[in-house]
Amino acid sequence: MKKVSVQIAFFTLLMFTVACAEQKEGNQSAESSSTENSHSPSAISTPSADILTADERSGMTPDQVIALLDEGNKRFTEGDLTDRDYIAQAKSTAAGQYPMAVVLGCLDSRVPPELIFDRGIGDLFVGRVAGNFENRDMVGSMEFGTKVAGAKVIVVIGHTECGAVKGACDGVELGNLTGTLQNLDAAIARVDSVEGERSSKNKAFVQAVAEANVHQTMEDILAQSEVIREMVKKGDVKIVGGMYDLTTGRVTWLK
Ligand SMILES: [Zn+2]
Repeated sequence: MKKVSVQIAFFTLLMFTVACAEQKEGNQSAESSSTENSHSPSAISTPSADILTADERSGMTPDQVIALLDEGNKRFTEGDLTDRDYIAQAKSTAAGQYPMAVVLGCLDSRVPPELIFDRGIGDLFVGRVAGNFENRDMVGSMEFGTKVAGAKVIVVIGHTECGAVKGACDGVELGNLTGTLQNLDAAIARVDSVEGERSSKNKAFVQAVAEANVHQTMEDILAQSEVIREMVKKGDVKIVGGMYDLTTGRVTWLK
């Protein structure tokens, strides 16, 4: 009788040990699977909450800013955009901003400056108008962005297949748009070497006008702003022009 009791006790102990081992193994696999989950591809890369600080920007030259924009555009074309924590960036920049550049671009929905240069909140001042031309308000904003707020580069960005350029080439008239498009007349007048029709039907002409418009706008900014002229003269600020290709996503810097 005693022997049977001992056997039962031993069996019970054995079963208990096995049960504990199984449970432990189960816990481990649960732990390892939760560990695996926390290291799943979506969680491995923590979105960047980095923002530009005053020190970082003051250490940049205009050429370095242009290089950063070019590298960002390359990442955009390669589908390698930086994963950003925008709300964290919004909170971090709420007390102050130190953007590296002022970008003047077209209204066109397909040319969003922050995306095509892979930049986050607080990195760029952006002004947009159909046809990316300058006027007093835009240049005043650029003076604020550079002289007051410290941006190192002014970027004028045109793009392929620009509807505003096409409309200007065709002399489109519609409400206030008529006057808006007339801001591109000087660019149209600059183009005299393209063969064929001087209308939106001629793709080479439209592209030449879009590029001429970037050059014209860069010259107009300098002509209109003594403040910007002085900063450019000192080397504190650079003005660059670029053309964005709607199909490839690439920005080609104009000479
Ligand atoms: Zn456009």
